[in-house]
Amino acid sequence: MNPILPVIAVHGGAGTITRAALNAEQEARYHEALDYVLKGGQAILEKGGSALDAVTEAVFRLEECPLFNAGKGAVFTHAGTHELDASIMDGRSLAAGAVACVKSLRNPILAARRVMEDGRHVLLVGEGAEAFARNAGLKTVPPDYYFTEARHAQWQRALSEGRFGMLEGLAAEPIDADTKMGTVGAVALDADGNLAAATSTGGVTDKRVGRVGDSPLIGAGCYANNRTVAVSCTGSGEMFIRMLAAYDVSALMEYRGLTLAEACEEVVMHKLPSIDGRGGLIAVDAQGNVCLPFNTEGMYRGHAQAGGPRQTAIYR
Ligand code: ASP
Repeated sequence: MNPILPVIAVHGGAGTITRAALNAEQEARYHEALDYVLKGGQAILEKGGSALDAVTEAVFRLEECPLFNAGKGAVFTHAGTHELDASIMDGRSLAAGAVACVKSLRNPILAARRVMEDGRHVLLVGEGAEAFARNAGLKTVPPDYYFTEARHAQWQRALSEGRFGMLEGLAAEPIDADTKMGTVGAVALDADGNLAAATSTGGVTDKRVGRVGDSPLIGAGCYANNRTVAVSCTGSGEMFIRMLAAYDVSALMEYRGLTLAEACEEVVMHKLPSIDGRGGLIAVDAQGNVCLPFNTEGMYRGHAQAGGPRQTAIYR
């Protein structure tokens, strides 16, 4: 048997990202950010680290980067606040942890990881999740920490256009830079053959207070199982929840024997569009195959094998 070649893939959200909407300088900044994120996860895998640590590090870096809609740079709710969701899953044990509707945690993905390690629950929300994270010694931040000019302007435009939850904008053509989503995620396979997935988001612009999307829901926006695949999603969360998108990729592989590419094609290009689900996902299977499908104009994405070149892309 060939030795397993560890691999990591990341995303920074999908949407109507076009060449017209991004200038060369902005484009370069996204490539640079994605490369830095991949590099962090890749370094862990190259040292023989776990897939779980690699996806945690990658998503941590994405949360710290204001370009993406997670941690700093999170989108605004209808009330002008920020509510963040994150999840993580270990494909070896099917252990999982998630937090939703948190407003004061600097890195929701670290809180999700602690919930998983604690083992008692899978999903903690709101104040309870924040208290748990504080007790675990995780960093808290004031509400204005998440603020960025770009997200604020985006929210103002959504308010003036009455585009509640930004989902209507998603269907709009031609291209609208505001409908680009920036949820982040990572999936990895390590040298021991273990898979892991992690997802983190600020949700959708102008969402109702208390709204929870697919990102913190195991099986919807995040799933990992060593028997099949690790998946992290981005897109119109309500449809990803209804389609159990991440788990569906795994189920199609496990029960129908589809390859990774076939299962991804079925979910992203056929099943999600059938209910108007727009977005994409990143997936790596137990053999180290990578698939990064999306049904939007673009998706910030990248992947790298241990010891290999890092590749990043935005458009189709
Ligand atoms: N899926 C996320 C949500 O619905 C949004 C995104 O991917 O940008 O919360």
